[in-house]
Amino acid sequence: MADKFQAVVIGGGPGGYVCAIRLAQLGLKTACIESRGSLGGTCLNIGCIPSKSLLNLSEEFHKVKNLSSKGIEIGEVKLNLSKMMKSKDKAVTILTKGVEFLLKKNKVTYFKGIGSFKSKNEILVKDDKDNETIIQTDNTVIATGSVPVSLPGIEFDEKKIVSSTGALKLNKVPKKMIVVGGGYIGLEMGSVWSRLGSEVHVIEFLDHITPGMDKEISSEFMKILKKQGIKFHMEHKVEKIKTVNKGVAISTVDKMGNRNDFQCDVVLISVGRKPNTNGLNLEKVGVELDEKKRVKTNKKFKTNLNNIYAIGDVIAGPMLAHKAEDEGIAVAENIAGQSGHVNYDTIPGVVYTTPEVASIGKTEEQLKDLKINYKIGKFSFMANSRAKAIDDAEGFVKILADEKTDRVLGAHLIGPHAGELIAEIGIAMEFGASSEDIARTCHAHPTFSEAVKEAALSVDKRAIHS
Ligand SMILES: Cc1cc2nc3c(=O)[nH]c(=O)nc-3n(C[C@H](O)[C@H](O)[C@H](O)COP(=O)(O)OP(=O)(O)OC[C@H]3O[C@@H](n4cnc5c(N)ncnc54)[C@H](O)[C@@H]3O)c2cc1C
Repeated sequence: MADKFQAVVIGGGPGGYVCAIRLAQLGLKTACIESRGSLGGTCLNIGCIPSKSLLNLSEEFHKVKNLSSKGIEIGEVKLNLSKMMKSKDKAVTILTKGVEFLLKKNKVTYFKGIGSFKSKNEILVKDDKDNETIIQTDNTVIATGSVPVSLPGIEFDEKKIVSSTGALKLNKVPKKMIVVGGGYIGLEMGSVWSRLGSEVHVIEFLDHITPGMDKEISSEFMKILKKQGIKFHMEHKVEKIKTVNKGVAISTVDKMGNRNDFQCDVVLISVGRKPNTNGLNLEKVGVELDEKKRVKTNKKFKTNLNNIYAIGDVIAGPMLAHKAEDEGIAVAENIAGQSGHVNYDTIPGVVYTTPEVASIGKTEEQLKDLKINYKIGKFSFMANSRAKAIDDAEGFVKILADEKTDRVLGAHLIGPHAGELIAEIGIAMEFGASSEDIARTCHAHPTFSEAVKEAALSVDKRAIHS
């Protein structure tokens, strides 16, 4: 007799496992199927967590090496890369095991294996020994995430031609690394290896990095990364990448039509990710995909079939862990008969480089396109006492507010702890706050958050410290 569930979630990433926990909290008999052998998905295993661990460790290495200029002499600082990798792996293991514990605690049945549709109400699970189990389900949530894409005709060997997965576990610091693609993943991984000693070059097709980000922030970001030693080759189209004896040869064509040849030890191709629907057998049940091969859903995350839903990277929207999690909660509530909802206007995006970059809501470019009149408030961390006190004062806060109503429409930050500071603006935006509401909220002194308050004051040209 096959196991019967009220809900089955395929995929144990931040979308899937959070959804499964919420379903169980709401009283549904729930199962979660994950093929990777450990829970947490891309994010915990080969994404957010290992990258943040390496960003932090490489930043500490870089800082300690440079402490003598601040009067702290600690002698020769050496890198032990294999120990650093072990420390990163330990963080990943603790967190993935933690998710397994959470599933157990919430009485979610965890199936290890590949899930595929046998019918609308039956899921086949195949484990790594090819044992097959069929489970019955009333509802299914597809949360199978995404995988990295390469350039046409170029395959990842994960040694010399790597995706982010390979870039997270190199066993040697490459002398020279080329990052193809100036998006956040490429820049984060480029920063890691640059701080550990690689000469890092970024090749980007567009004339700016981090596409979609407020242009003023993106150009400040590039300036700062250049100062840190990363070299940029903008408006270059990669034509060829091939491994050669000593490393990798890359040829590009620039906007003038000139051919350029590069050589490096390792190339990281970071040009995006694609939805992962491989092996789900969606055709069999007739689940529709959109033009980008993402699972097509309505606002309630329902596919064209009544009892099949989808969330996270496998559907439209920004490929971010917190977006997947929020969708996981919302869809679980919808399945349980509640009114789950995600506000896509307030999903923050953070780049965890040094300094951090964070944004929420509309950019200036979007407001112009939408013909919305707006006011700008800006405040530099150079005038923030906490930032100056610890000599970490690069960047600024920029708040965009509606010209008439003063309602906050967006905020874009580059600077210390920007990824934490953005949460304050997220709450303000959720409550429909004005820039004046932020400006009149008492912020502790001395904190970086005072730069947010001052930027809000500056919307009405009344910042005190600039
Ligand atoms: C290097 C890197 C850094 C990142 N950093 C950040 C960050 O700092 N912040 C952030 O918000 N986002 C970050 N992301 C993006 C983030 O990881 C994803 O947006 C997020 O993991 C998406 O969650 P998900 O649950 O939709 O899918 P995933 O996390 O991809 O999980 C899907 C899971 O489904 C499993 N699966 C697939 N098919 C099947 C099947 N048929 N049966 C069973 N299981 C299956 C997969 O093995 C996978 O574990 C990063 C990504 C990368 C690559």
